[in-house]
Amino acid sequence: MRTRFLAALGLSLLAGGASLVQAQTPAPMPPEKPPIGEEKMPAKQLFSQTKLPSIGKAVAIGYYPRGCLQGGVELPVNGPNWQVMRLSRNRNWGHPELVHFLEKFAPLAARATGWKGILVGDMAQPRGGPLPFGHLSHQIGLDVDIWFMPEPDHELSRKEREDISAINVVAADKLTVNPKIWTPQHAAFIKTAAQQPNVERVLVNAAIKKELCRIEGTQHFSWMSKVRPWYGHDDHIHVRLKCPADSPNCRKQPPVPAGDGCATKDLAFWFKDSVLHPKPSPPPKVPPKPLTLADLPPACKNVIDAPANPKAVQR
Ligand SMILES: [Zn+2]
Repeated sequence: MRTRFLAALGLSLLAGGASLVQAQTPAPMPPEKPPIGEEKMPAKQLFSQTKLPSIGKAVAIGYYPRGCLQGGVELPVNGPNWQVMRLSRNRNWGHPELVHFLEKFAPLAARATGWKGILVGDMAQPRGGPLPFGHLSHQIGLDVDIWFMPEPDHELSRKEREDISAINVVAADKLTVNPKIWTPQHAAFIKTAAQQPNVERVLVNAAIKKELCRIEGTQHFSWMSKVRPWYGHDDHIHVRLKCPADSPNCRKQPPVPAGDGCATKDLAFWFKDSVLHPKPSPPPKVPPKPLTLADLPPACKNVIDAPANPKAVQR
């Protein structure tokens, strides 16, 4: 016991002594080199390690699931009608049009639903790019997830923003919305998002799309065609903006098919047993190669190599 104590004391003295020496004669630090070159590194690693946006004018580069963001701007974590969730992910960045969209949409959604405001989930990383988990898209600063949950009446703590989960509004059988949870406010929330002119698509679970079709009946509103069924999306909507005019290298998505997408044939795919209850696929023999910088538009190398915007704040 005593020997161990002395040994520990000796070690701590040594450690203390070493730091004292270092403080007196600072040794030049060799430049830090990543263990592998940035070209070979998975792009998701490169982009998620970069904590601040690049300098330069804001530009969305590439395609929603394969690109990056120059000159990203931050959505403040608290606004008059919104709070940002999961701050630890550092994904509250976007093209300025996305930030403006949220600043405008939050009070409109509050008015349409009677909610205090909205809870904002993932947008993009400071320089966009592939994400290490959670999404294939969200890469060019034009995608945002907004939760099916009214903003609470108090400012959430950092911990609450990590711990609270969005509310699933779809029934367990995935065929309909959950009547105990779904309200007309949810419909108003989605409709308000889809009505905004620079919104390209609003992705929701197929059971939600089906319910919207039921509510709106045969009134073929143009906003309805933007509401598209997609996997998951039972506890949030995913809003995607059109390519901004200032971003010539932003690749447009093919336009949504004409019509409101409410016909049985349009929705049938989503309610097939194989889609509702997919069989687990065997793990691939060769694991898929993660995207590298070479797989992204060439301009994304400049984005990752550019100095950080000194005015950007990291939280
Ligand atoms: Zn999303």
